[in-house]
Amino acid sequence: MFERRIPLFRLFGFTVSIDVTWFVLAVLITWSLAKGAFPHYCPGFSNTTYWWMGVAGALGLFVSIIFHEFCHSLVARQFNLPMKGITLFIFGGVAEMSKEPESAKSEFFMAIAGPISSVILAGIFFLLYTAGKAASWPGPVNGVLMYLGWLNIILAGFNMVPAFPLDGGRILRSILWHAKGDLRWATRISSRLGAAFGLFLMILGVISFIGGNFIGGLWFFLIGMFIKNASQMSYTQLLVKSALMGEPISRFMVAEVVTVPPSIAVSDLVENYFYKYHYKMFPVTEDGMLKGCVTTKQIKELSKEQWATTKVSDIAQPCSEGNAISPKADAVNSLSLMNRTGNSRLMVVEGNRLLGVISLKDMLRFMALKLDLEAGERITTGPDISEG
Ligand SMILES: [Zn+2]
Repeated sequence: MFERRIPLFRLFGFTVSIDVTWFVLAVLITWSLAKGAFPHYCPGFSNTTYWWMGVAGALGLFVSIIFHEFCHSLVARQFNLPMKGITLFIFGGVAEMSKEPESAKSEFFMAIAGPISSVILAGIFFLLYTAGKAASWPGPVNGVLMYLGWLNIILAGFNMVPAFPLDGGRILRSILWHAKGDLRWATRISSRLGAAFGLFLMILGVISFIGGNFIGGLWFFLIGMFIKNASQMSYTQLLVKSALMGEPISRFMVAEVVTVPPSIAVSDLVENYFYKYHYKMFPVTEDGMLKGCVTTKQIKELSKEQWATTKVSDIAQPCSEGNAISPKADAVNSLSLMNRTGNSRLMVVEGNRLLGVISLKDMLRFMALKLDLEAGERITTGPDISEG
């Protein structure tokens, strides 16, 4: 999801990173606080003071989001959910999980930890504000403390909206999941609410924009779009996963495989294999023994003049965890391997023997069929992988 992120520091074993889009949010917040909120709510200070207050407010937002995501991560760790780390981006922050929670209980506690932590943080800022008032701390300091208190209330409130994948949507999903024992149904309801809330924000954005609030309107529209997409995508991913989980790869495996001898020239390979069968990968075998495989990637590394003088054995890749899979693996394992490596065809290998080949295309076809027959669901958007 994040391609241009900068790791900042590690805290209790979690890496905190910023995606470059976060700077857009930081600049917008600083600017709107310095030019709008602070001059309005704390009048009587200089322009420079307001800019400093804006910067302090943006830093406070940074700390507040990290604290919120951090509490999610700590609770997730208690439930043995592996966390990738915390990333701040244009719409806030995210505690990235390597996999989804396995029980309704773990999801509930993990999700609710965020809003609770924000309410606690709000309480701390309000207490500091009260102490500051009593002790006559400088006005700008009190102004920023007051703002940070409200900011955390808003963070908690917004995240509690029952719109998946917001925290409130996860809480709702875990309650529904617990009540009926059906994760797919629970996800469908909460992600529909998520999509509806996203649409509501988009409409609100358009209305604000027409009403003259250009930046606020655009902001609502973008957040709405983000929530709408994220809710639909997470439901699709769940469908894909539930259709493929536990399915042995023998169901999609093609045992009659076209293999290539290592002694032929690359020009021969391109002409008589790639252009003839249109596969992107061929296993290389000699006397029934598997030697590795050759893909379009290795051919692209050669210039066309080298094709006639290079042999398949010179460019073949040995079997590895990236291109071969055990017959015991299931469809979810193979899908995540394809996703990770970008290889849409994998060899099914036992010891030194080639049992067959599985392809993403066959798996997706099987999955679409299964969903259509068993759940009456039709997949409209593919999973986050491209058929290469
Ligand atoms: Zn949260």
